[in-house]
Amino acid sequence: MVYPYVGCYLERINKTHIDIYHALYILIMRNWKKTSLLTAFILCSLLIGSFYVFNLKVVRTSSKVIEFSPGQPLPKAQTDSLNEKPKNIIVFIADGLGFSHLSLAMLSQQLDGIPSVWDQFDVKGWHDARSSYGPSTDSGASATAIATGTSTFFEIIGLDQDGRELTNVFEVASENQYNTGIVTDSYIWDATPAAFVAHTKSRDNAKDILIQIASSDLDLLFGELEDLGEDDVPDLESTLDILKQRFQLLDESLELPEQDSVIKPIAAIFEEDEVQDLSSTPNLTQLTDVALNYLTSQNNPFVLLVESEEMDAASHNNDSERVLKGLKSIQETLAHILTFSEKDGETLVLFTSDHETGGLAAAVDFGDYPNMQIIWSTRDHTATVVPILAKGPGGEYFADVKRNWQIGSLLKSLISLK
Ligand SMILES: [Zn+2]
Repeated sequence: MVYPYVGCYLERINKTHIDIYHALYILIMRNWKKTSLLTAFILCSLLIGSFYVFNLKVVRTSSKVIEFSPGQPLPKAQTDSLNEKPKNIIVFIADGLGFSHLSLAMLSQQLDGIPSVWDQFDVKGWHDARSSYGPSTDSGASATAIATGTSTFFEIIGLDQDGRELTNVFEVASENQYNTGIVTDSYIWDATPAAFVAHTKSRDNAKDILIQIASSDLDLLFGELEDLGEDDVPDLESTLDILKQRFQLLDESLELPEQDSVIKPIAAIFEEDEVQDLSSTPNLTQLTDVALNYLTSQNNPFVLLVESEEMDAASHNNDSERVLKGLKSIQETLAHILTFSEKDGETLVLFTSDHETGGLAAAVDFGDYPNMQIIWSTRDHTATVVPILAKGPGGEYFADVKRNWQIGSLLKSLISLK
């Protein structure tokens, strides 16, 4: 018994008029073996008890900052050996989607018993989305690389790191008598669509991007408006005035104008967050269907950019539920695109991402096997490589893509191919 033992000591100590704290010190020092063991035992008991009472888990993380340079430039892609030219090209960019997002998408389709859209791609690979700064990037730099074939810095749209204007895929397409279109579930001047149309130092130059969209050769534009009247973003009236200079605006029914009455390219503009997941009206799938109807009704081949912003938006917030809903929207839209290309037989479909967001892991907890956990490691972008998938004529050339800029380089070469 401990307490009688201590009490006995204190009694003796009082008799000799020694200060009580001093006495305790002597007690502990003389009996350090017993008191240390007692203290260690009490602490261990409290620690183990707290695991059960509060359901704590020990998470061992190790982080180390590693400095990287942008890396050696790769040689330009071998484009002189291209000989298979697709008639139409659909580029689907799932902003913020990495391999773990893709794994979740595949798992959720298995769970729902839906045939996998991912298995339908003939070419499956990855690319390094690094910017001119190093392994990390943002949508401005990465979309510029994909749209132009040249790496650049963060925030920049359609310019190289020295501010020189870069020719983009849509400009080459228009020169070669293609129609061009953009469908996004984000706002129309978002960095990803902007990189295919505009050239400006900052992705935040909304007014400049809108004016460049209106003076471009773009034939179709479906997307949202955001932050109207804030900072550099014009208010609603001014935005519509800019867009009307080029586009005929569709109403909510998305009914296409009579063939004979089309005198202008078309645009459909929605409120912020109006186009999100499959429960939204309209949703990305519906907008893509309308876009494909319109583009195939024209007499020219086309290049269509479809962007889903949902993975990036959800992953910045570590919002697992929104990721799962967004993946369904991406898969449903892809299913429609692949059905179109299957029937058409002349369309190259390219699916990729500009970077990964969230450091997502589809992790297994062996205590809860076989259930999966969605675990996040950051609220920012990561430097992990991202998927690139291709199907259709010319798809095989994208098996060699190692860096994001090679996508733009290949697309421009395929469009220019005679
Ligand atoms: Zn982001």
